[in-house]
Amino acid sequence: MKKPATAETAESAEKRILRILGELSVLCGKVSHFLTGPEALVALLLLAGAPASAAPAVPGAIDVAVAARSIQPGELVVFTVSTMQPVDGVRLHAFNREIPAFKEDALRWRALVGVDLAAAPHAYHVTIEAKSGRQSMDTGYDLHVEPRRFPTRTLTVDDAFVNPPAGVLDRITKEARELNAVWTRSAPGRLWTGPFAAPVSAEAGSSFGSRSIFNGQARSPHSGADFPSPAGTPIEAPNAGRVVLARNLYFLGNTVVIDHGLGLFSTLAHLSVLEVQEGDEVLAGRIVGRVGATGRVTGAHLHWAVQAGGARIDPLSLVALLGRP
Ligand SMILES: [Zn+2]
Repeated sequence: MKKPATAETAESAEKRILRILGELSVLCGKVSHFLTGPEALVALLLLAGAPASAAPAVPGAIDVAVAARSIQPGELVVFTVSTMQPVDGVRLHAFNREIPAFKEDALRWRALVGVDLAAAPHAYHVTIEAKSGRQSMDTGYDLHVEPRRFPTRTLTVDDAFVNPPAGVLDRITKEARELNAVWTRSAPGRLWTGPFAAPVSAEAGSSFGSRSIFNGQARSPHSGADFPSPAGTPIEAPNAGRVVLARNLYFLGNTVVIDHGLGLFSTLAHLSVLEVQEGDEVLAGRIVGRVGATGRVTGAHLHWAVQAGGARIDPLSLVALLGRP
């Protein structure tokens, strides 16, 4: 005889969940290892055919793909996070910092994870979290950073840039503090649009990451790429963003820093003239200044440095991954 409809509805929600849990544990013994708490019940209801509107995507159903030139110090790693159902937000946690993701389309998010040029070779755990309403799900990815040997370069510059006179030490300290503050204040959304391009057409030297010996003394590694280009060559914004710094700095000379949003910054240094002001919104390709030889240099060139979430990365890795195909 057919069971009356009331018998089914009379079964309490709790009992039904327990029954489903029991059935599922037979089918997939591993389920309880990654599903705990009330979310697990909701998720299991979803697996058991509960209406999709009852809960967001199934935990564990996050797919992660990674693109990079190599997984090494100074390289950009682009994470693509795909979910089964639309989610409200995705964020990553890597290298002891939060890395925001941006929406690519309804089911795909991207995040730029920079491996700092001083990162030690090691397996770094990346946590990926997707949120939908009050539900959240996460997964992990191990980034195996391989060792990288950087060359050493020997340069001769004005001694005032190797052993600065006492009179400029305060200025140097203040500028370092100001730059550090700049890196902490990126726009919360993506300001860049379309592909990244080098700011000048010259071929870059492969000086990124070089251990630098100035006048026989070791200084911090070179955190940008140098483009040998004649003085006066126009410098174009590598992509859209907001000019957050446009002034003369002791070591970098005339400098423009563009905030591309989400923790991504371009620094353009040693300019002869600045053609933008702090606060300006720039589009990709906008001329921001001219190549020069201001600050600690041996001659006219453009120094382009990129920071991604606090990591110093080779600008050429940014162009390789997010440049014109
Ligand atoms: Zn440089």
